[in-house]
Amino acid sequence: MTSTAAPTVAPPAFTCPKDMTYGPCGGVGADGACEVSVHRCTFLDAPVVRWAGAADRWPDRATRPATGAATRPATGSASLDLLALAAVRPVVVSAFPSRALDAESVTICAEIMQGTVDAVLAGDSGQARVQFPPAYRAHLIQAAGLPAWAGVTCRDRNRVALEGELAALAHVGVAGIHAVTGDHTLTGDRPDARAVFDLESTEVVALARRLGLTVSVAESPASPPVALRASRLAQKVRAGAQLCFPQYCGDVDDVRRFVDAAREAGADVPFLPGVPVVIDRPGAVQLASFAAAVLPTGYVESILAARDPYQAGVAAAIDYAEQLLDVDGVVGVLPAGASAPGSETAMAHALASIGRALGAGDGLGIPRTPRTS
Ligand code: SF4
Repeated sequence: MTSTAAPTVAPPAFTCPKDMTYGPCGGVGADGACEVSVHRCTFLDAPVVRWAGAADRWPDRATRPATGAATRPATGSASLDLLALAAVRPVVVSAFPSRALDAESVTICAEIMQGTVDAVLAGDSGQARVQFPPAYRAHLIQAAGLPAWAGVTCRDRNRVALEGELAALAHVGVAGIHAVTGDHTLTGDRPDARAVFDLESTEVVALARRLGLTVSVAESPASPPVALRASRLAQKVRAGAQLCFPQYCGDVDDVRRFVDAAREAGADVPFLPGVPVVIDRPGAVQLASFAAAVLPTGYVESILAARDPYQAGVAAAIDYAEQLLDVDGVVGVLPAGASAPGSETAMAHALASIGRALGAGDGLGIPRTPRTS
């Protein structure tokens, strides 16, 4: 007898919404869920994919070849050589808290922080998806006398646009770039925008190194699969990453364990772990909501219980940073936080106080000599 039942069609297999090869990203939930789906992250049960591109050593900054006029620093720029400075004393690369699409806010915050930190990590504002392009933001910051370390994400630009952006950043003479894959558009205030993810962070590392840029990467030690995070970082280092800025991952011993594991896995690069900066309750709530973040035990609670949360937050960050700087392999710190909308200048002052207390921004920054050909 012939069956009249409709043929069964298997549902399509779940694939990474960011089309990643060298995943997982930092957005994996504590329960293993994908950043933007109810499905499990596709990388949880898979081995780390080995970097398949160039595994050679890149030329150092003194000997790397000139790659054309588009990548030469703009006239008069002399950006910070953070790796050289880190060999002399601990360094502070601070988050940069300006408003999105507001040049005046960028300049005001840069002027507050100038001379107090060694560079600022100018990533996208967490509160808006529409941003000034990284090179324009870096230009504004450096015009105020503050070295910029530009965040570059793969969310909104295909490989052609990324190549142009990186060339512009090289021309601006940024201190370095921080290559991240980026949050999916579905997680922000513009879910109507199509996510691009033509490349991912590991591939941007190699691209940026070819343009002579100094490149850092992130890693999320506390995000599943925790046991593979060190090996994943090692692939980014194989691709050319020169520094790692680990996401908040708990107490000082947790940071120490990750640094040790990463070095054992082959990621023997300088580390600048994140230092959470909390100055008000909205910022504390926002920090606690980051999927990849684990804060030090009792950290936020003690700040919010203090009579003056702003002062308590600054003091806690300085204390935690000083402890991190005692960890072998840690050459500096990255104070970063969140605060109530409209409090960007208050956060800039807090970050300036932290940098100053840690001895950064003292003029010891070793200028990179612009190429002349
Ligand atoms: S959590 Fe990130 S890496 Fe994993 S499947 Fe989702 S988007 Fe891809």
